Amino acid sequence: MRPRLAPATYVNGILAQDRVVLSRAITLIESRLLTDRQLADEVLQLILPHTGRSIRVGITGVPGVGKSTFIESLGQHITQQGTSLAVLTVDPSSQRSGGSILGDKTRMETLANNPRAYIRPSAAGTSLGGVAHRTREAMLLCEAAGFEVILVETVGVGQSETMVRGMTDFFLLLMLAGAGDELQGMKRGIIEMADALAITKADGHNHIYAARAVTEYQRALHLYPATESGWVPKVVTCSALENTGIGEIWDLIREFEQVSKGSHFFKKNRQNQTLDWMRSYIKQELETRFLTHPEVQLQLPLIESAVKNGEQLPIQAAKDLLYFFFK
Ligand code: GDP
Repeated sequence: MRPRLAPATYVNGILAQDRVVLSRAITLIESRLLTDRQLADEVLQLILPHTGRSIRVGITGVPGVGKSTFIESLGQHITQQGTSLAVLTVDPSSQRSGGSILGDKTRMETLANNPRAYIRPSAAGTSLGGVAHRTREAMLLCEAAGFEVILVETVGVGQSETMVRGMTDFFLLLMLAGAGDELQGMKRGIIEMADALAITKADGHNHIYAARAVTEYQRALHLYPATESGWVPKVVTCSALENTGIGEIWDLIREFEQVSKGSHFFKKNRQNQTLDWMRSYIKQELETRFLTHPEVQLQLPLIESAVKNGEQLPIQAAKDLLYFFFK
């Protein structure tokens, strides 16, 4: 790893929109070394007044739905309007298999060469929570570096959507037309979180199926209670291949921004998100301290085995372990 810089050098570089420094700062916040963490916290504290000015958009969808192609198109559209854009990814698969569902390197080549865009491949980590924290922090660094739109992309295969939803203002779910009932069932909880559903690949023969899917999802959305934001979730179609519907989706995001700022939901939502962020740090820190406590480490295997064998009640076991921790 390259030598660390002084906090002020990171901060000045980021504020001067120096991408090399920005990338090094993101690498710093991804490090698990204690000294790096302290430095990262110092940098984050210093850039804090320069954060929060972007619109944060979460994008999810199953592998193959067309996320990277869509983000390329949307990114080109956004940057053509003179707006700068950073793309971050949360890929829960990358730490498990060593490989990545999102296969960062070959993706979004056009956007990667666009001077108004910045793409940062996914952070690795041992826990999804850890990955989410680093992505949040990377988002703050990108905001301080002046990026006006932050897209946070994740694969719709697990819990990562909830985490991305919890760090963004607008949540976009990409879906395929006619993907089958099981898939729709699986997506139920995610559909509920979405501010917009976009049926992808609405081109050629697929057009007709996409239009049908719009009607179906619109009907499904009516079953959910109205959102607190005052925003009615929208269902649209798009084709990244034919470049249709992309501009409309961007307009929707802008409209959402206006509506939710007007209703003060935008600010309130962000405040809640930062509080959740703090609470999740507390949980994480408590858990780390608990699991690394010498007495707990000693007792844990014994107590776990007693619970497994039905000799001790889980609640009593938990109380006993907490006793060792607090005594
Ligand atoms: P991801 O796994 O969700 O990132 O999906 P990709 O963007 O890699 O796209 C998966 C496949 O769908 C690729 O073969 C793309 O060429 C194709 N694809 C993406 N967008 C479109 C589209 O708008 N129309 C059509 N017909 N195919 C598309």
